[in-house]
Amino acid sequence: MPERDDFMGTQPVRVLAGNLLAWFEGKYPEFRQELKEIGRTFGATRVIKYVCNEEPIVGHKQGNLTPYVTVAEGQIGIHETFLSYVWGLSYGFLVIFDEQIHGPSTGREPSHGKPLGYFTSRGYEVLNHALGLIAEFETWPPNLPNPENCAAEDRFFVEKANAIYLAAVDFILCHELAHVACGHLKRRKETDQRGEHITPAEIKKLEGEADKWAFDCVSRGIRGPERSATTVGFGAVTGLGSLLFLNRGLTSGTHPDKDDRIGSVLSGLSLDEKDSLWGVAAAFYMAWDQRFQAGLDISGEFDTYQALVQAILGQLESIKREEQDRQMGLD
Ligand SMILES: [Zn+2]
Repeated sequence: MPERDDFMGTQPVRVLAGNLLAWFEGKYPEFRQELKEIGRTFGATRVIKYVCNEEPIVGHKQGNLTPYVTVAEGQIGIHETFLSYVWGLSYGFLVIFDEQIHGPSTGREPSHGKPLGYFTSRGYEVLNHALGLIAEFETWPPNLPNPENCAAEDRFFVEKANAIYLAAVDFILCHELAHVACGHLKRRKETDQRGEHITPAEIKKLEGEADKWAFDCVSRGIRGPERSATTVGFGAVTGLGSLLFLNRGLTSGTHPDKDDRIGSVLSGLSLDEKDSLWGVAAAFYMAWDQRFQAGLDISGEFDTYQALVQAILGQLESIKREEQDRQMGLD
């Protein structure tokens, strides 16, 4: 994370770089001390590297420009385009959920002062721009809402999106930090030194452990209106939901299934069946289906958002089975 120069970078999310560090370090009073101890125990660097380049997220020889932690130094890094992508998902899903999904079902006047649905098209435009960054870098269109420069009427959702974005990146950074704090990197190094390799099944176990550690860590920060359970939960769902659009697959050899990772967060929050976060998760799955034409059928009537998610998850199970059958094919 930049130490003081908050305005490094070229993309509008650069103005939140300092906020990211403050949000990450200020989770709860003891966290700064815990960070120091993790650094002392494992020799990891505390400062997070903010990598600026105008590149798409996928399609590079060296791998995707997604958040990482180096095995040798425990250096956590995050790319600016990935951050723009996460901001776009935060804004897009917030607006689409509030204006198109949840708003109409409450019958209440929206508190942004405009008619309900006024911002829906902006939600889709921002979401589409964000999804476009996966394969092709494009400068943020100045007419689209963004954290750096926005019209007065856009401020309502931009400020809410900023908080979700900070919570999303916080979850992601905590996942990477977990690999240091849980001793995963130490184990990787020792295995390498013995000339052995850690198996994909073991990596998968460590990845699940890192998600759990990250969730426990961000949950400890829940307090007051600025770090509400909804914001922290929406952030964690967005952090993990960001993985849904990078490729169609829900399963992988080295990570727990994408829907199971989101499911662990939702169950960790002990949500009421009517909680909006179920609806937000459903919106992520519907956008995934839209992008990859996976054929989800959500035409039924659902009493609660949780029931909708359950209907989707049932279908994802069979999609995953097909995926695995393909992967296990002989060809
Ligand atoms: Zn990981």
